[in-house]
Amino acid sequence: MRIVKHGEKVLRQACEPVDYAAVKRELPRLLRDMFQTMYSVRGVGLAAPQVGLNLRLSVIDVRPEGKAQRLVLINPVIVSKSGKVVHEEGCLSLPGVWAEVERCAKVTIKALDARGRPYEMTGEGMLARAFQHEVDHLNGKLFIDHLDFITKLKVMSVIKEARKNWT
Ligand SMILES: [Zn+2]
Repeated sequence: MRIVKHGEKVLRQACEPVDYAAVKRELPRLLRDMFQTMYSVRGVGLAAPQVGLNLRLSVIDVRPEGKAQRLVLINPVIVSKSGKVVHEEGCLSLPGVWAEVERCAKVTIKALDARGRPYEMTGEGMLARAFQHEVDHLNGKLFIDHLDFITKLKVMSVIKEARKNWT
């Protein structure tokens, strides 16, 4: 699947909730393609709008302890968050662009899994960051939206250069 880049409209739309029953048949294939796309560019998360789909659906694999852990987030909601941590962050829709972003350190989400079953999960570190980054995507938000004005100006010039290599 082609990954949509910053500047394309679909990344800026609030996504529609997933009607699990309606997508159930196509879901296994879609998830397989999304994981494959994500792994092919060494990503740790990929949201449906990044492959051009207006759906509240993301996949994550932050590989805890170096082992694959495929997470499917359908209609995810952040139910609690705490702490603050600043860390470098990037996005598959802004290849070659990185910035320090402040996020909550610990985050609990509620979502449906690949089989449509509700679950709750608490993440810290990279997983907490991925939860927040992915839920942002489903609300039409990108990590650069969290930057202060001066940092954003600097990042914009990096984007201008990086964009030349985007496909
Ligand atoms: Zn992203």
